[in-house]
Amino acid sequence: MRPFTYERAEDAKSAVKRHAEVPGARFLAGGTNLLDLMKLEIERPAHLIDVGRLPLAEIAETPEGGLRIGAMASNSKVAGDARVRQRYPALSQAIVSGASGQLRNKASTGGNLLQRTRCPYFYDTTMPCNKREPGAGCAALEGLNREHAILGGSHACIAVHPSDMAVALVALDAEVETLTPSGDARRFPLMELHRLPGESPHIETHLTPGELITAVVVPPPPKGPQVYRKVRDRASYATALSSIAYAGGRIALGGVAHKPWRAADAEAALAGGATPAEAMEVEMAQATSAGENGFKIALTARLGAAVIGQAQEKAR
Ligand SMILES: Cc1cc2nc3c(=O)[nH]c(=O)nc-3n(C[C@H](O)[C@H](O)[C@H](O)COP(=O)(O)OP(=O)(O)OC[C@H]3O[C@@H](n4cnc5c(N)ncnc54)[C@H](O)[C@@H]3O)c2cc1C
Repeated sequence: MRPFTYERAEDAKSAVKRHAEVPGARFLAGGTNLLDLMKLEIERPAHLIDVGRLPLAEIAETPEGGLRIGAMASNSKVAGDARVRQRYPALSQAIVSGASGQLRNKASTGGNLLQRTRCPYFYDTTMPCNKREPGAGCAALEGLNREHAILGGSHACIAVHPSDMAVALVALDAEVETLTPSGDARRFPLMELHRLPGESPHIETHLTPGELITAVVVPPPPKGPQVYRKVRDRASYATALSSIAYAGGRIALGGVAHKPWRAADAEAALAGGATPAEAMEVEMAQATSAGENGFKIALTARLGAAVIGQAQEKAR
């Protein structure tokens, strides 16, 4: 690990201000992703601004009937909150399907959304990776790509985003609140937080450098059933090969793209009277295989059809 300096932020405004002042600064929340990457020298911040104890851990009712989840609320706290469990079961289910109990106790809401890919070539510093080192190439395209993207990939990167929570939040139409480097607050759909890789997979979000996530706002729960289902290589402690969040007719897919994937084509097909299997077929028409990951196309189609069918059955 490279040497770095450290400070603990007192409030969100000063955290953002310090980030703008100190070259090479990064926010540190639970540290469960950033510190691992620092040990491998994949991330090399010169200065850490610890935001983990900022007073942003509250889960509060919004005037509209939704919930505002502070960026520092731990994954365990959010998954276990009685209001979340009752009104947003897909979110609880998604969170508890990820990582381990100990990790979830430490992992924050903001950090979970901004965790980096688990692509093995991103972690292996002896192999080319455009995400780790822009312009280096992508070893996954011709290599071991069983876990990689089937939707929205590019010739520069086919890594997937590993967050389960983000997939449920996209299906729930959540928004993100931030504080920008100039000190202004902004709010935008969570669906617009992450980017597809294109030519610059190292730029993973639409946040400006030094922009702090302060909260996630979930609107009132949609009518109808909610489901999160995840297919993985082991029964626990593994990221998704494919996952789906279904919430009142909205569908998001995980483990299949560089970002949580809103299945808009499947939603439109369902609205037009398609069966769940037909709707997923429409969505998967745009999927591509890089080789080993081809099985994910059929897997995601079947998983989606099963979950949508189950939800429709429950709604009757
Ligand atoms: C073995 C293992 C298995 C895992 N399995 C899963 C899984 O199956 N599913 C899953 O979803 N996750 C999984 N995870 C990931 C885990 O959920 C994340 O490591 C965790 O959520 C990151 O949160 P954190 O608070 O520790 O973030 P940190 O490590 O502190 O930060 C992560 C990144 O976010 C930035 N950041 C943090 N907070 C903010 C903020 N408020 N504003 C702006 N930037 C911020 C940091 O600068 C850093 O770049 C796994 C992790 C491990 C180690």
